[in-house]
Amino acid sequence: MAITLYNTATRSKEEFVPQDGKTAKIYCCGPTVYHYAHIGNLRTYIFEDLLRRSLAYHGFDAKHVVNITDVGHLTSDADEGEDKMEKGAKRTGKSVWEVAAFYTDAFMRDFHSLNLLEPTVWCRATDHIAEQIALVKTLEEKGYTYRTSDGIYYDSSKFERYGDFARLDLENLWAGSRISMGEKRLPTDFALWKFSPKDVKRQMEWDSPWGVGFPGWHIECSAMAMKHLGETLDIHCGGTDHVRVHHTNEIAQSEAATGKTFSRFWMHGEFLRLDGDKMSKSTGEFLTVDSLVKRGFSPMDYRYFALGSHYRNYLSFSFESLESARKSRLALRKRTTPLVAKALAAGAKIESEAALKWKERFAQAVGDDLNVPAALGLLHSAVRDDAVSEEERGALVLDFDRVLGLKLDLEEEAAPAAAEDSEAAEIDSLVAERAAAKKAKDFARADEIRNALAKRGIELKDGPQGTTWERKR
Ligand code: AMP
Ligand code: ZN
Repeated sequence: MAITLYNTATRSKEEFVPQDGKTAKIYCCGPTVYHYAHIGNLRTYIFEDLLRRSLAYHGFDAKHVVNITDVGHLTSDADEGEDKMEKGAKRTGKSVWEVAAFYTDAFMRDFHSLNLLEPTVWCRATDHIAEQIALVKTLEEKGYTYRTSDGIYYDSSKFERYGDFARLDLENLWAGSRISMGEKRLPTDFALWKFSPKDVKRQMEWDSPWGVGFPGWHIECSAMAMKHLGETLDIHCGGTDHVRVHHTNEIAQSEAATGKTFSRFWMHGEFLRLDGDKMSKSTGEFLTVDSLVKRGFSPMDYRYFALGSHYRNYLSFSFESLESARKSRLALRKRTTPLVAKALAAGAKIESEAALKWKERFAQAVGDDLNVPAALGLLHSAVRDDAVSEEERGALVLDFDRVLGLKLDLEEEAAPAAAEDSEAAEIDSLVAERAAAKKAKDFARADEIRNALAKRGIELKDGPQGTTWERKR
């Protein structure tokens, strides 16, 4: 049975088969580790996990690469503003390397708590500076770059297909752009290598043929994807926000360098919204897995909640809907746990006609561009089907859970003990940021942090030894 996937490049569903017929080469844009991942980011990683599990269900292996952006992601797409990592260091009073290590660890904890399959390769941008420089050199040799006083830029006018992927109306975009461009020739040009400012010593900087500095953000994904997966990937994933700029730029620079298609399929997860707004790391007010655990939810409740909506649809988050997901998941477990026990005791297999029919319908659903909400519905129905023996129903539960990843084969875990500590670490870091803001006379930001914490029931007390905090709940 075939699996079809929606390909952003062609705006249509296409049958997917890996280039070598067996192992899908998948690259997923990973986190920028200057802050915690919010549950919106994690929705995208859940979608990518479902992709991998669905491919496995349809008989394909995967070489799955995820990057960690620990340098060079500027706060604005216009290649201006601060490096997000250096900004994170200022906020927390730690070194950039400490910030990266701290939030990478936090990300890994979240990743595993949601039962996401381990990628084949995790790769850090700072471990691949040489590969990024080599790629910029190739682009320079092929005439795709120019130099300004602050860096080496990609000349998007040289790549004819630049606007095709995101269906950009370039003439209008160039004419109507209000982005301040500095010395850039076109708004769509972007930095490949930025020079360190002359008067500032950056914590992360490297030598290059063009001068001391650091890589632009987009180049890391092209360089690492091609290093680990070759010049043509099978599937490249990310959130929908990446279509217009980041993935457009990845295609422009990779295809200009190699002359080959960079990725055969492009898949994008739609956003999680909070009260109609998009959730954002930069505003500081966002929900993390730990903040859900703090309110008594299991990370599996969030996974179940995310499974209830197709990855190409917006999903609105509210605690009421998370609560219904929790109830529905626990009711499901109540039904499946005895069935699974029977299946395991009997070594049951899926062999009756009725059970095979359920399996076929399930494979069809996940094979239809990952229709996981339908697949989840089938699980709910299959476990009630008296025409199938209890042992065999248990075997179906175990089989379907290879895709759903709800840990239906295990006993329900107690909430992770580390949650409390991790929230405390986050509060400590906000308190440190507030102290730094006050020192810099940025009282608006200092008040903003105090108010945001107050809303969460955290009271701050300023004293001669510094600031302490306590929970008022
Ligand atoms: P970042 O750490 O900001 O680079 O984002 C990591 C991943 O999360 C990227 O694939 C983004 O496209 C995705 N993302 C960011 N915000 C959201 C959101 N609200 N909902 C779903 N995915 C998101
Ligand atoms: Zn990327």
